[in-house]
Amino acid sequence: MPHLCDMDRMPALFVGHGSPTNTFEDNRYTRAWRAMGQALPRPRAILAISAHWYFGTSAVTAMERPRTIHDFYGFPPEFFAFQYPAPGDPEVAELVMNTAKPLWVGLDRDQWGFDHGTWSVLTHMYPEADVPVLQLSLNGLRPLDYHVELGARLAPLRDQGVLVIGSGNVVHNLRTMRRDLADHGHDWGIRFDRAVIEQLETNPAGILQVLDHPDFAMSVPTPDHFIPMLYLAGMAAAEGSTLKTWNEGHALGAVSMTSYALGLDEAVIREVEEAALGAAAA
Ligand code: ZN
Repeated sequence: MPHLCDMDRMPALFVGHGSPTNTFEDNRYTRAWRAMGQALPRPRAILAISAHWYFGTSAVTAMERPRTIHDFYGFPPEFFAFQYPAPGDPEVAELVMNTAKPLWVGLDRDQWGFDHGTWSVLTHMYPEADVPVLQLSLNGLRPLDYHVELGARLAPLRDQGVLVIGSGNVVHNLRTMRRDLADHGHDWGIRFDRAVIEQLETNPAGILQVLDHPDFAMSVPTPDHFIPMLYLAGMAAAEGSTLKTWNEGHALGAVSMTSYALGLDEAVIREVEEAALGAAAA
């Protein structure tokens, strides 16, 4: 059995989610998601911070039964038929709202649900859909440091059994997507991804220094997929801690899959990655 370095506190994750096709694929990333779901202590609830709910305010889903949203086009019918039937948890939604104070997080009772940034990952991590899930929107009207600060405010959710999962992609420039680079990144994306790894593994409080990196503009042409990582940086900074890297890699040239963990023992991360590689060899 893997052991956690800190049994009383729920770890927190950032996950590079990549294409919606990962929902149905068995690859090294999705196998690691599966192994991670098995390695973590069972959460009371999951708070997913997805790139795909880029909105005009900060809100948390507060329905008993959130709907599955199909927020893409041009995919085969099975993508539109997909359902992730996890329950919501209105009580945890209020906990999130109160934990964020004095920052404002509203309760969403009828707008959103689960978008594919959430369900493409959770269908692997929690295939039974038996853990309550909430989504937190990204307030697109606020500057980037707001998201680092809100992440820091939400850090105490770790003590309440809530698994925070940011879901995006640190490098995400779909105009540069190339099918022939299935498992590779462009040079500028690899350089920027490495810079973010170095920042988060040493000083997550200074994460916004990567905005000065020469490859930032190419790697982050829009902020939506970048912002979910900022929540993890804020959580780590609030505790004077650092993040550990897992699932480092690139896809289609344009996207980094590199993921991060807070409060997880290095040995657990190695087991997760070995499980993904071992399953591939089997
Ligand atoms: Zn996405």
